[in-house]
Amino acid sequence: MLSNARLNPVKHTITTDLVFFYSTERYETLVKRTLKKKAAPKKTISLKQAFAEEKRLARVEYKKMLMTSGYQPDCMSSDRSAEFAREFKRAGIPQPVARPGEVITFQGLLDDLSWNIEELIRERGHKLNYGVHVGEWPLGEFQASVTRTTSRNRAIVLVNSGLISLVYQMAKIMTYSLEFVHMDEDSDETIACKLLGWEPIGWTKQDSIEWIGKTLAAYVIHGDCRAGKRLPLSDSTRPTFATNLTFMAELFVVAHEYAHLLLEHVKAPKMVFATPYGDVEALGQNQRNEFDADLAAADLLIASANWGSDDPAGFVDVNFRVAGPCLFFVVAVFLEGVRIGPHDFTANKSGSHPAPYCRLTRILDHFHRRYGGSTNFLGEIFRQMIFPLVVPSVEKTQSLISAHNSTKGK
Ligand SMILES: [Zn+2]
Repeated sequence: MLSNARLNPVKHTITTDLVFFYSTERYETLVKRTLKKKAAPKKTISLKQAFAEEKRLARVEYKKMLMTSGYQPDCMSSDRSAEFAREFKRAGIPQPVARPGEVITFQGLLDDLSWNIEELIRERGHKLNYGVHVGEWPLGEFQASVTRTTSRNRAIVLVNSGLISLVYQMAKIMTYSLEFVHMDEDSDETIACKLLGWEPIGWTKQDSIEWIGKTLAAYVIHGDCRAGKRLPLSDSTRPTFATNLTFMAELFVVAHEYAHLLLEHVKAPKMVFATPYGDVEALGQNQRNEFDADLAAADLLIASANWGSDDPAGFVDVNFRVAGPCLFFVVAVFLEGVRIGPHDFTANKSGSHPAPYCRLTRILDHFHRRYGGSTNFLGEIFRQMIFPLVVPSVEKTQSLISAHNSTKGK
């Protein structure tokens, strides 16, 4: 069955918001400055060596945070991360290998993301002045944060508990949804069948709405979408596709926090916000810093892409690297809809964080200006998929949440 979510021919509109352009220029200047610094005599000591000790100490400080709060994120995370590990392996993505009898937790995945990002930073010739530990924390409405610790050279990046499994489940749903997105206005051919060559699985727009609703409701109510129903694996190709997207989305989330450190956004005032496990400090950033960190993170991801030739594999690789961040912002658009109710999600409001939809278009615009659009095909599909899905999915989520709250009240 085909639904009515037709994909418009990919036409890219360049954002005319002055904030964006100003932000870009500022970002480009920062990059140039960093690259200039790179010309200085090279040190032989690697980034990893230089900050290994600070990194270890940042981890100690994170563990102290956990102990004082009585919070143990790993025991929540281990079962799904085992599934993750299998799919990572199947997709050929490097990830931490567990020794026999050892449980792979999300901490392992976060360590791996952190390792990957520090490699990308080093490869690009940027200099990271901090030993960084990445850990989980229930951050509430924030999806990730970065703060400096008591030491000058250490920072802790916190990723919202449940975010990893949420992104994974949403990646699956959005991947399955390619089944009802058409190649163009007048065609019956879908992205899934025509472009990706997948066998039909009969997934409809209504399936997407139901599953997004269930997934987001479980995430909002329980802080973890695994408390809801698990979306079964469809076939052998789609989960691998979704796993690739998930990896890139999570790499982007963590790279964004690293980017605040790289761009020295550390002078931002510290803010304190309450979480279920105690107050957490974060560097309060303004919108300009957020956009700049997004672009720096997106550039890091694309820096190691296998492209530059007409190789179709390179085209796919680079598209995943752009689509991953886009997927993350699609999830954020849905979550924001659930949190604040009906609103124009394409409009940017003042406040510390720019609207997720604007962050998504900002990244697409950035790569469109640089590379002419070939990097954006998949990301652009995700951007357009928000429009038919956001309103019914958010309504579905909200009705599930209020049903839950009314039974709880009885
Ligand atoms: Zn940020």
